[in-house]
Amino acid sequence: MSTIAENIAKVAARIRAAAQASGRDPAQVQLLAVSKTKPAQAVREAFACGQRDFGENYLQEALSKQQELADLPITWHFIGPIQSNKTRPIAEHFAWVHSVDRLKIAQRLSEQRPTNLPPLKICLQVNISGEASKSGCTPEELPALAAAVTKLTNLQLCGLMAIPEPSDDLAQQRAACAQLRQLASDLQPPLATLSMGMSHDLEAAIAEGATWVRIGTALFGARDYATPHS
Ligand SMILES: *Cc1c(COP(=O)(O)O)cnc(C)c1O
Repeated sequence: MSTIAENIAKVAARIRAAAQASGRDPAQVQLLAVSKTKPAQAVREAFACGQRDFGENYLQEALSKQQELADLPITWHFIGPIQSNKTRPIAEHFAWVHSVDRLKIAQRLSEQRPTNLPPLKICLQVNISGEASKSGCTPEELPALAAAVTKLTNLQLCGLMAIPEPSDDLAQQRAACAQLRQLASDLQPPLATLSMGMSHDLEAAIAEGATWVRIGTALFGARDYATPHS
């Protein structure tokens, strides 16, 4: 087996164990393979193991990888920060966007979504307390943002996403994820999709209801940021 195949098997086992430990059906937790900074060949290897959903953060890198891999029926997710002048290619070339954090971006994605494609699936990124990233709406802004995004015709609002501050403490990891779950269930109507959990905290995220875990390092190894990305 290749390293990637072994890693996929290990991550799948972690997901199963975490789901079972909290009485959840492992099939409710989907694996998003985060391939940012990794070559198209790594995606191809993961695809050969049955992985279909891949997440990318950097638009130019993602678009060139998509071209190289156009022969594969991959479901592409955009998970990085979004500049408003970059929304059109995102609307055209992805099935999901996990990192929408303001209405202007959502409006542009909806206007620019080609009408021959299904609605773009959206998670709103929330900056929960102590979040490492500067992206994300505040919990206070979330209800109005969700209500406005629901009205946009070419988007389908599915859920929430967060990038909690890295912590080695399971209780702290769970508290952050519980906060996102609570925010999703407090919305009217509640949102079912929870995109949370990365290589170091997927167990905590699954215990708190994650439906997408976004895993990079545990599948593809450590990233090398020596080369610039855009
Ligand atoms: C890079 C990244 C991931 C994957 O993180 P790992 O710790 O490598 O698993 C997940 N989500 C987002 C938004 C990322 O930018």
